[in-house]
Amino acid sequence: MSIFVEVGKNRLLRMSATDFAPYQNLLARTREIALLDSAARLLEWDQETGMPPRAVDWRAEQLAFFGGRTHRLFTSAEVGDWLKACEDQGFGEGTAAATNVAGWRRKYDRATRVPAALVEEFERAKTHARTAWVEARAHADFRRFQPHLETIFVLSRQLADCWGYASDRYDALLEEYEPGARAADLATLFAALRPALLEILGPAMEKSARTPADLLRGEYPEEQQAAFNREIAAACGFDFEAGRIDTTTHPFCTTLAPGDCRLTTRYDRTNFFVSLYGVLHEAGHGMYEQGLDAAAFGTPAGSAASLGVHESQSRLWENLVGRAPEFWERWLPRATHYFPRLAGRTPAELTAAANRVAPTFIRVEADQVTYDLHIILRFEIERALLAGDLAVADVPAAWNAAFERAFGLKVPDDARGCLQDTHWAVGLVGYFPTYTLGNLNAAQLFTQARKERPEIDAGLRAGQYTPLLAWMREKVHRLGQRHLPPQLLTHATGRPTQADDYIATLRARFG
Ligand code: ZN
Repeated sequence: MSIFVEVGKNRLLRMSATDFAPYQNLLARTREIALLDSAARLLEWDQETGMPPRAVDWRAEQLAFFGGRTHRLFTSAEVGDWLKACEDQGFGEGTAAATNVAGWRRKYDRATRVPAALVEEFERAKTHARTAWVEARAHADFRRFQPHLETIFVLSRQLADCWGYASDRYDALLEEYEPGARAADLATLFAALRPALLEILGPAMEKSARTPADLLRGEYPEEQQAAFNREIAAACGFDFEAGRIDTTTHPFCTTLAPGDCRLTTRYDRTNFFVSLYGVLHEAGHGMYEQGLDAAAFGTPAGSAASLGVHESQSRLWENLVGRAPEFWERWLPRATHYFPRLAGRTPAELTAAANRVAPTFIRVEADQVTYDLHIILRFEIERALLAGDLAVADVPAAWNAAFERAFGLKVPDDARGCLQDTHWAVGLVGYFPTYTLGNLNAAQLFTQARKERPEIDAGLRAGQYTPLLAWMREKVHRLGQRHLPPQLLTHATGRPTQADDYIATLRARFG
């Protein structure tokens, strides 16, 4: 049953969800969950930034308590009844209510299909796997991690089978991070991307060889780095009245509440690029979070569309804006103000140093051209593992062979090979492709934005980033989860995620 009210002459609009009790119940439940969740996230942020080591046992108990509590609140039977009532009622397409009901339904069906015992078993397995992984990596000894990785993949298969899929088990896991994405489509996308990257790699390395790796090496005081980063993040549009930057070993961005977005970075006193590009990346995530509808906090209408869309915003500011020639033409004088040792350097030198291309074993240190080759390698290995085509015991050999094929380098040990990332150890299987989707989405959105609004290019030259941010706000941020990512990209750019704008961008920069 739908309720219509007259608006103007002949237009009919469905009545808002304001008066519909089941919808209000769902909003109240979501708010309760959001209050608990934001407290849990503050505890997690504290764990990463300042918690003393002996607090870890109690902290783990606290987080497990919050996690279990919110899971039960969301998967209870009355939530299913309220959802069903909302679906029977129907809300106008594109409204926050319709977005919320569709998003809650996706989440509810997935959460209620997994038995609590499996959730608990997976949580325990992850805790042990992470501990074993830290030790295995420190000793570059895969065998210490192998039994745990076997468990992670056994349980990931069970989870996928609970969630369900049409033909590819990988899709069920991918759905957790990138709703609507399919492994087969990603494989097609990556197949087009790989040869293009390899073609760009040769000339890019040649060009990079002209810039010494240590061109800018020197002493850059941490306080000066922090001040410069802050000035740039603020110029890009990160709101420091609603966020802050702290120091951690592993940089991240987390939103604790509406008006409270926390970024972290790490400092290298000899290389200010480490913290600067880290901050630009995380501030990109942060500006997406700050652009979501604060009044809809914790609901699908006020949440990011997917990880692949989230990563598009971080890559946009880090690479497409921050490593472009006009960036250093604008910012070198300010950099020299903070770091007088840069006096005499040219914008072209800074740009060249920021765009150095040289294959490395480590994904997180990879340049723009080889980065996605790291991702494709991981995607293929975890797909083979899930399908049962590759045994966990054979991962190091498969990894090293694939790495040598892709990069022409022999992996010296597993710490610089299959043990380098934490993702599998913490149960994130199917997550890696969202990094490459982020790169492709970033280029596609950026290309379209510049086509539509010429003032964006003028702004990039002048260090005025409002026109670019305004376009992203309108086409991405404020929409929350109104569209699945392929539809979001189609609405914004006319087509779902493709590789061509990204390849064109890399060619223009490196080819
Ligand atoms: Zn990121």
